[in-house]
Amino acid sequence: MLDPDSQEQRPIEQIFDILTSFPSDALEYVDESLPAPRRNQRATMAQMAQRFARTHTEPMGVRFPLNFPDIPTRAPDNGVPSFLSSTSCTLLQDLLRAQLDVDEARICTCAAPPPPRCGHAISKRQFAALTTAWIYWQGGTTMLSEAGTVTAPHWDQYGLSTWISCLEGEIGLAWLVRPKNPEEHMRWLSDPGRPTARWAFKVLRPGDALYMPSGTVHFVFRRPSGGQTLGYSEHLVRRRHLVGWLRVVGLTLGREDVDLEGYGLVLPPLMRQVRVLVKAVKAQGLEEMYGGKERLGEALKLVGQVEKAIKSVFASWRSLPSHFLHAISLA
Ligand SMILES: [Zn+2]
Ligand SMILES: [Zn+2]
Repeated sequence: MLDPDSQEQRPIEQIFDILTSFPSDALEYVDESLPAPRRNQRATMAQMAQRFARTHTEPMGVRFPLNFPDIPTRAPDNGVPSFLSSTSCTLLQDLLRAQLDVDEARICTCAAPPPPRCGHAISKRQFAALTTAWIYWQGGTTMLSEAGTVTAPHWDQYGLSTWISCLEGEIGLAWLVRPKNPEEHMRWLSDPGRPTARWAFKVLRPGDALYMPSGTVHFVFRRPSGGQTLGYSEHLVRRRHLVGWLRVVGLTLGREDVDLEGYGLVLPPLMRQVRVLVKAVKAQGLEEMYGGKERLGEALKLVGQVEKAIKSVFASWRSLPSHFLHAISLA
């Protein structure tokens, strides 16, 4: 539990008391202000703690402000509402857990063909990729940034929904107002640096939080005068939003900048598990938890399209044919 009103320690100092207790690997981050060969930097948690111990704001332009990568952390009690751990919000964790809960003998080391055709449950590389995903998704992440940073517009990896709360400083979030159709949803990609569309924004202050459903195009900015910021975020898929998530996964696969390797490792086992899930849900008559029979039928159809898309992307190593975008309507 972080104490936001503590007179002795700021929330950022409190979180570092936890983070610096583990001799984990150094945090890798990018400092765009450095010449190209030196941009990729590393810092231990102790070095990070030192950097954030300086609370004064340097005048703009003296030093390039840094936004650090998310750090997997167990949620502080007051960083997340209790409904996030309710059954309706734990689908992603359940899918992941089911795929990772596999006997060692079922992990494939064959060269070809890939699982499940060879009889194994999951490939070794998929298992490793899911393990990394689990570290980030089972308990959420700490977000640390200096004042004055801004991210590029994006939607979150694998089309996941995101909960974000502010524990210190001022975290600005701008998001694309709900697009009417897939074309409008994807238009910002034509000029991601200057996306002309309808945007809304909100500055989160300690105690504020925001939920972004799958595929929300957004960017995060820290006000130059807003001080260092500490946020907490968790990725999720709501059980009743399974179809919406799968649609966004499909749209993601249509993008040229998609991290094909990561998607090719993480998505196939998750899609296999959705198939298993739908079968079990039908057998148990639990369709209502997922929005009803029709939605589950649609989910299976989308799983088929996503699997086909992954195969074709890998086979041709090119982006998807445009008809894929039209096949998955956002209506
Ligand atoms: Zn095998
Ligand atoms: Zn994001």
